[in-house]
Order: sequence, then structure tokens, then C-alpha cells
Amino acid sequence: MNGDRPEGTNGRHKSGDATNGRHKSGDATNGRHKSGDATNGRHKSGDASNGRHKSVDGEDGEQQEVMGPLVRRRSSLAHAKCMFHNDLELDHRPTAKDKLVGRMADSYRDLLTSLGEDVNRDGLLKTPERAAKALLYFTKGYDQTIQEVLNEAVFNEEHDEMVIVKEIEMFSMCEHHLVPFMGKVSVAYLPRGLVLGLSKVARIVEIYSRRLQVQERLTKQIAHALIEAINPSGVAVTIEATHMCMVMRGVQKINAKTVTSCMLGVFRDDPKTREEYLALMR
Ligand code: ZN
Repeated sequence: MNGDRPEGTNGRHKSGDATNGRHKSGDATNGRHKSGDATNGRHKSGDASNGRHKSVDGEDGEQQEVMGPLVRRRSSLAHAKCMFHNDLELDHRPTAKDKLVGRMADSYRDLLTSLGEDVNRDGLLKTPERAAKALLYFTKGYDQTIQEVLNEAVFNEEHDEMVIVKEIEMFSMCEHHLVPFMGKVSVAYLPRGLVLGLSKVARIVEIYSRRLQVQERLTKQIAHALIEAINPSGVAVTIEATHMCMVMRGVQKINAKTVTSCMLGVFRDDPKTREEYLALMR
């Protein structure tokens, strides 16, 4: 399921901070997403054929139809002391972000005070800093580009059969409510001379999911990143996710899943390719 991604790297960050270890993704949350789908979270096959998608998260305001510009930033490798240095999944983030922790912690202190909390009580003393670091971790994808990840991972290969990486774990943050949404991403492509190291597909998912997102845009960004990386004849991306903004607030539909898909190239234009993909996804 994790492809050739090394075990235990997921969710790992700064070793010095005891609290951080607890957020390791993939343990407790993992099994939960298998629960029965609510019918309204189901994918209509008609939608898939157009590369369009359906969302049950209707109260989330505007749905972005246009893929945002790919964020490109340079990150330096020369910051061995940065708080994400031990993050094996992605490289490092620029030290500039570490410097934001103090200001972000102040903001969290204000927020807690607004809630009527006493920020000086024992349990909350270090919370603002921890929360700031956690938020930086949840959005660490901003400092990653697919170019960095693809380094030496694109191979010439005459393989022309469909490649599918199924059920990649995904944790992201809903940009409308700043609460998590999580689920599984499946990616398929039909190579045209170039293939990608399998673990890199999972890393592309990381880069775009570790940002403030909406599921629809995330789906498209992953698909377009694949196109940009290896120019395949087609790409299909399907994401099935549970949104905490639905589960914990509002309608409280605990089992509702949102399914989005983006089909490009032959996956959109050739019914046989699409059928093969959908069959393999079942
Ligand atoms: Zn939301």
C-alpha cells in the first residue's frame, strides 16, 4: 500500500519534541476510513468520464474549478538544525519557516485567550508553540516542488501498460475550516517512454496534500503534476476522503465520504482505458 516508501517515515518530524511523535499518521486513523460509504459520498460514473467530480461538502462555499498555479519555491538543504530536518519523507523546509514559530505562537495565545482560556495554566503553557509547529508541519508541502522530488526518479522505460498506485494515505487540511480531511489517493497513468519511481507518486501526493486544500483542487494538482513529470498518455487520480468539517461539525455525517476524480488524456478520451482503470479500482 505504501509502495516502496520506507516504513515509519510518514508523519515523522522533529525528534526533540515529545508531543510531535504522537501525531504519527497512519496508526490510529488508518483503519477508520474503511467504514461503509454513505450513498451521497458515492461517485457517479458519469462524472468520472468528464474528469469532473462531485462533492458532498456543499456548505464549504465556493468550489474551485480552476487549478491553482503550482507553487514553486526553492528550498535549501543547508539547514541541519531546522525543525523538519529528520523528516525523511520530504526534504527540509527553509529555516525561514522556523522563525515564524514565535509569531504564530503569539497568535495561538490570542486565540486561546479569546476562548476564555488561561494561557498560563500548566496544560497550555507550551501549547501555542506546539500548535504553531504542528500547523507548519501540516502545511510543509508549500516548500516542496515536484522537481526536487523527481530528481533521479524518472526512468526511460518502454513499458506501456497502465501503472496504478492504489490507496496512498493522505492527510490534508481543509482550507475553509482549517480542520483535517484524510483518506486515500489512487493514481494511475499510461506511460509514454517515461516512468516514475513508485514511491515518488506517494511523495507527489504529500507535496500537494500538506497544504491548505480543497479536495477537488488536490485531485487536479496531483494529476497535472504527473503530466508535467513524465508526460504520459493519460492520468487518472481518485481521492476518497473524510472531512472533519463534516464529521465534527455541521451535518455530522460520520461515514460520509467525498470522492473526487480527475481524468486526463486517454483516461478521459478512451472509454476502454477508463473502464480498465475503474475495474482495477474496485
Ligand atoms: Zn471544510
